[in-house]
Amino acid sequence: MASSPDVKVPDRTQVLIIGGGIIGCSVAYHLTRRGISDVTIIEQGVVTGGTTWHAAGLVSQLKASHSLTRLATYSTRLFEELEDETGQATGYRSPGSISVAADTERWEEILRGASMATTCDVDTEVIDLDRAKELFPLLNTDDLVGALYIPRDGVTSPVDTTLALAKGAKARGAQIIEGVAVEKLVTENGKVVGVDTEQGYIEAETVVLSTGIWTRQLAGTIGVNVPLQACEHFYIVTEPLDGVPRGMPTLRDPGGYTYFKEEAGKIMAGFFEPRGKVWNLDAIPRDFSFGTLPEDWDHVGPIFEKAVHRVPALGDVGLQLFFNGPEAFTPDGVYYLGMAPEVDGCFVAAGFNSVGIQSAGGVGWVLADWIADRHPPMDLSLVDIRRAFPFQGEPDYLAKRIPEGLGLLYAMHWPFHQYESARNQRLSPIHDHIAAAGAVFGEVAGWERPNWFGLDGQELVYQYSYGKQNWFEASGVECHAVRNAVGFFDQSCFVKFRVEGPGALDALNVICANEVDVPSGKAVYTQWCNDRGGIEADLTVTRISETDYFVVTAAASGTRDEAWLRRGCRDHEVTVTDVTDELAMFGVMGPNSRALLAGLTTADLSNDAFPFGTAQHIEVAGHDVRAMRMTYVGELGWELYVPWAEAPALYDAIFETGEAHGLKHSGYHAMNTLRLESGYRHWGHDITDEDTPLEAGLGFAVAWDKASFTGREALLAQRELPRTKRLIQFRLEDPERLLYHDEPIYRDGELVGRTSSGMWSYVEDRCLALGYVNHADGVTRDWLDAGIFEIEVATERIAATASIRSFYDPRNERVRL
Ligand SMILES: Cc1cc2nc3c(=O)[nH]c(=O)nc-3n(C[C@H](O)[C@H](O)[C@H](O)COP(=O)(O)OP(=O)(O)OC[C@H]3O[C@@H](n4cnc5c(N)ncnc54)[C@H](O)[C@@H]3O)c2cc1C
Repeated sequence: MASSPDVKVPDRTQVLIIGGGIIGCSVAYHLTRRGISDVTIIEQGVVTGGTTWHAAGLVSQLKASHSLTRLATYSTRLFEELEDETGQATGYRSPGSISVAADTERWEEILRGASMATTCDVDTEVIDLDRAKELFPLLNTDDLVGALYIPRDGVTSPVDTTLALAKGAKARGAQIIEGVAVEKLVTENGKVVGVDTEQGYIEAETVVLSTGIWTRQLAGTIGVNVPLQACEHFYIVTEPLDGVPRGMPTLRDPGGYTYFKEEAGKIMAGFFEPRGKVWNLDAIPRDFSFGTLPEDWDHVGPIFEKAVHRVPALGDVGLQLFFNGPEAFTPDGVYYLGMAPEVDGCFVAAGFNSVGIQSAGGVGWVLADWIADRHPPMDLSLVDIRRAFPFQGEPDYLAKRIPEGLGLLYAMHWPFHQYESARNQRLSPIHDHIAAAGAVFGEVAGWERPNWFGLDGQELVYQYSYGKQNWFEASGVECHAVRNAVGFFDQSCFVKFRVEGPGALDALNVICANEVDVPSGKAVYTQWCNDRGGIEADLTVTRISETDYFVVTAAASGTRDEAWLRRGCRDHEVTVTDVTDELAMFGVMGPNSRALLAGLTTADLSNDAFPFGTAQHIEVAGHDVRAMRMTYVGELGWELYVPWAEAPALYDAIFETGEAHGLKHSGYHAMNTLRLESGYRHWGHDITDEDTPLEAGLGFAVAWDKASFTGREALLAQRELPRTKRLIQFRLEDPERLLYHDEPIYRDGELVGRTSSGMWSYVEDRCLALGYVNHADGVTRDWLDAGIFEIEVATERIAATASIRSFYDPRNERVRL
């Protein structure tokens, strides 16, 4: 559909939404509900003509995490009411859904999901297989071990629901223009100011890219990185079938990669095959409204056979339709929301991995709030566009990773699961050395990181399960070394920034909640808070000189923290430089670390000369190293920063000396255990932008006397109130069960919170977790002591012990040995 010269576009609009799919229409609908009515949707074709029109229309609530489930649940509530509000039929109904498992591991995954659902008010029911067959008579239950029923799951007409959202938005003032493509976004001084369309320029304060499979290319016109890629997605629709009751629940058989939906007496079966097919890597044609792709039985055939096994009637009926349409998939299988880190005012809502219909309501709600308030209404770090990295936008990478990502939608969501494709994007300078030492790598932000080191003769691959995995013993050896001797961590993937210039102190002292006007050589643990006191980042800031600081943060937070830092430094005379690839970083941690390093340096490492929380330039084995006395594992230790090229030689020297001190390689699984034992928080899990330092037990890292820092007023106000929400440490008293995250926490039988992270402790011989609990009168020590706590794992409640302090070294004395 080419642009018509008769279509007129406005000169300006407050919010310009590009793309009239269900997402763009939902954002417009919710913006107008927030009272922002100067909203324009520009659609190059016809509303719904992108991916939306051909969706199967499943609206399920249960997702892989708490935040995604909350958004999907909101969608069902909205879709239930939308027709009444707008007068536009939506086709929404709630037949419920059934998820089935054909093996015990899948059943555990489904049950763990059911437990998580209780923290989001989603009702689920474990049903026996006879009941499952009663609800879905075509089901073959012969090889099944369990079924979960979610009564309120829905199905909808994607087109009609989108039209209802559009109608609601228009009724409150939004304008929708069809048949006009945006050709280019326009920026000034790092901010989006408008767009060039086929019909002229439109000035806009805010631009939303809800452009589906077209988003990567359009965002690229202003250097915004949205790594997504179109992939083919298939379903079939049968002829009408006997014995199909109207209103039958949707059936999900993840082990068979298929969902089944009843539609006017027919069955629609959709597939998430293990390896997807990328479509049009270089560019998506402008004129693809209502486009379809060719059928491919060679590709779908093996999956269809599994579908026939689960619903044998499929084998005896004719097919009315074989459908293939493109959908936008992302490297980690989760969509992107939020303001682009590269350009102010440019919001993204794209990459829906085949859940765009069910997510649309929630996405519209949170993005409208995000635009209106300039911050999200809840923790959305999982979907935040600031988790993307530049290498992920490369077509070569996407061509390899995206097909795997599509398959993982219905694959087992194993704890500690690692991608197989597009690996080795970023390597530490000692990668080969640690590989030779038996490292088994995991990937974070493209970095290959040693998660564990195989024991003698052990096969260096993961064997996944929900129980203790094959690295359990190996990681225990690593933890033991760090607690009792000394361990070596390759932390080169940590992101490092130099912040230099006469304005560095002023800028950083506003960004940091802790005091950074400290003597040179002092390393400060701090949070970066937002105006609400929520934690945006958790990191260390070291003063190098009057005007020079060194900032170190976790690999996964690199894009996000850099954007926060650059925005905070914008009005100051400061340069920010990412020096991650210049400096390797080694952690030498454990009670023997001092003795080990003393054999390599003449520097005085005593407590008096080199106290905890300080940094010095010292020579280690002939290398000029910045040594920082810091730890994330709760033991005496030093972080060593060394020029990239010298890292292998320093590594060799450390290991030559280290053996006598019991030095062992230690991986990131061990680090996770050790930090949890010591009660150290992990940003993204235990602390997010909706948790304050007071709630997270990090009030000690706030410089309350400092005249001003971002979040100060909110934190001071909160300090006067009872602590109604608080991060607590838990120990699960059943030594066989493991915690990961999002497990419900009960006190005296009442749901009071959920876990934020969990890991096995080799010291406690039990699983430990952190989790927020809530109590209107305050979460106090007395309240904790007076209650009986349980944590629910796969629908079973298990006794747990709660503690405000960490179970291991509660006074944090070992770091000061
Ligand atoms: C076969 C299949 C089955 C599916 N089944 C389900 C399901 O059961 N449940 C579910 O939740 N999800 C499902 N999905 C996924 C769902 O359809 C999508 O996630 C959702 O429609 C995405 O909506 P959107 O608004 O992001 O994208 P789109 O609907 O593609 O909208 C983007 C719009 O942007 C416009 N646009 C792009 N570039 C420009 C430009 N430069 N200028 C102006 N306009 C532009 C396009 O024309 C398009 O209309 C399915 C997808 C497929 C392919």
